[in-house]
Amino acid sequence: MAYLEGLMIDYPLDVGAIWRRTERYFPGKAVVSNLPDRTIHRSTYGEVLDRAARLGAALIELGVEPGDRIATVMWNSYHHLELYFAIPSIGAVLHTVNLRLHPQDLSYIFNHADDQIVFVDRTVLPLIAPIRDRIPAREIVVVDEGEPAPPGFLSYQDLVQSGSRARFQFRIEDERQAAALCYTSGTTGRPKGVLYSHRSTVLHALGVTNAEGGLGLVESDIVSPMVPMFHVNGWGLPWSASLQGASQVLPGRHLDPTSLLELFQSERVTITAGVPTVWFGILKLLDEAPERYDVSSLRYMLVGGAAVPASVLRGFWERHRVRMIHAWGMTETSPLGSVSTARSDLADADEETRFATILTQGQATPLVEMRIRDDEGRELPWDGTSQGELEVRGPWVARSYYRDEAAVDRFTDDGWFRTGDLVTLDSRGYMTIQDRSKDVIKSGGEWISSVALENAIMGHPSVMEAAVIGMPDPRWVERPLAVVVLKPGETLTLEAVREFLRPHFASWWLPDRLEVVEAIPHSAAGKFQKTELRRLLLGTAERRS
Ligand code: AMP
Repeated sequence: MAYLEGLMIDYPLDVGAIWRRTERYFPGKAVVSNLPDRTIHRSTYGEVLDRAARLGAALIELGVEPGDRIATVMWNSYHHLELYFAIPSIGAVLHTVNLRLHPQDLSYIFNHADDQIVFVDRTVLPLIAPIRDRIPAREIVVVDEGEPAPPGFLSYQDLVQSGSRARFQFRIEDERQAAALCYTSGTTGRPKGVLYSHRSTVLHALGVTNAEGGLGLVESDIVSPMVPMFHVNGWGLPWSASLQGASQVLPGRHLDPTSLLELFQSERVTITAGVPTVWFGILKLLDEAPERYDVSSLRYMLVGGAAVPASVLRGFWERHRVRMIHAWGMTETSPLGSVSTARSDLADADEETRFATILTQGQATPLVEMRIRDDEGRELPWDGTSQGELEVRGPWVARSYYRDEAAVDRFTDDGWFRTGDLVTLDSRGYMTIQDRSKDVIKSGGEWISSVALENAIMGHPSVMEAAVIGMPDPRWVERPLAVVVLKPGETLTLEAVREFLRPHFASWWLPDRLEVVEAIPHSAAGKFQKTELRRLLLGTAERRS
């Protein structure tokens, strides 16, 4: 059908638009970093972007072409922020790598992404140097201010100095061009890549700043993302804060409660963000020494990545008058998908009702749509009790994984993404996660693949069958519990299982508990019935903490 075309400028939504605004209006606003040696480094957006331009020019000189993947294995710092701008702006793809992964997963990711250049913090070099021959990159750049790079590596400082601002150019041809790449652990244990476009990145940055259904981030804020910049683009905060001209306080690798509270206090941080595990430690410290830290500057603390327990959200508010905002999101949703805030219709509600509301995973953020469907694909009503798989769509939701055709079943034919979260939606649209259909465990905000552990444990000579489920944990939210059926006459201890797995998995993947059982319940199709296992062993069919 013919239609009348609108007559507006097809203004490209790309990272260059954020860059130019930040540089023009907020060059003097602060970017503060806690360096590895705990010195506080102070720079400004003007300096960060000037260095980003020189870096971009230097990368072009190094032969970086549009579309090339460039990895960062780094904590949150002004260097990382420079790379957040430099890499996408020259048309390359910022691939942030989770430095907590096992070297085997790291080398899989470097090869799958085919990274041309890798930037690595000097403190992280001991993780990367031993697998150098398994990384396809032409160059590895060591990020440090001061020391020269070790032989065989390039120095970040030299690279910045070698670049000339005059030779820098934006090389973004189309807003649909890839800007960033982030891997998320799949149920099969093989990480899957989510490839963000410039358009999705800019729209998400705007969405995060939205006061209604977003985080209401403004110029006067001082934003300190504790969430690492390798976790879904630091939840989009580095770009959102830059766009708004809010100052940034980057905690580096000092993520223990004491360092964080000292930083929040000294820098008068107004917004911070992290997974529940980090908050547990901070709340404990505040409870122990309420007079020691001044947290009055905090407007709110964003919590997501796993459900926040009521005791934590209430504890911060009732004992320390700090508000938490609970949000839900995924690597595949950039990540902001929903935010839980009490609306004006609850203005007169009692405190219990308000708490019950903000403890849910919230309402979809503007431009993200939700629906729930049952196993047969029937859409379910928003009645607060019908439970089904959450599906989402929106301009910052993935429509496919990067070079991974096997995972097409996560995307529906009519353009929705299947989240693997089993949820209810109430009549006002507040979503509550009840369980997960994906077979993974989330420990301290990081994924552990049950299937990968099961397959490995089943390789143990004493084991006939093994299943791994998540058990609730007060510190890490979930921890792996291994359930095994032994071969006749065999015995097995938890320590033996851990030792057997140790060479192949990161230490935090190793199960914390072992249960030897006569049989593991199976479905008719021969799959483990994990819900039944959880009910039998943990007394609960659900994962809610
Ligand atoms: P990731 O891709 O690592 O960000 O993990 C996304 C998954 O984490 C979601 O599919 C949920 O299972 C879980 N998740 C994220 N936010 C929350 C939340 N607020 N409450 C409960 N689970 C969450």
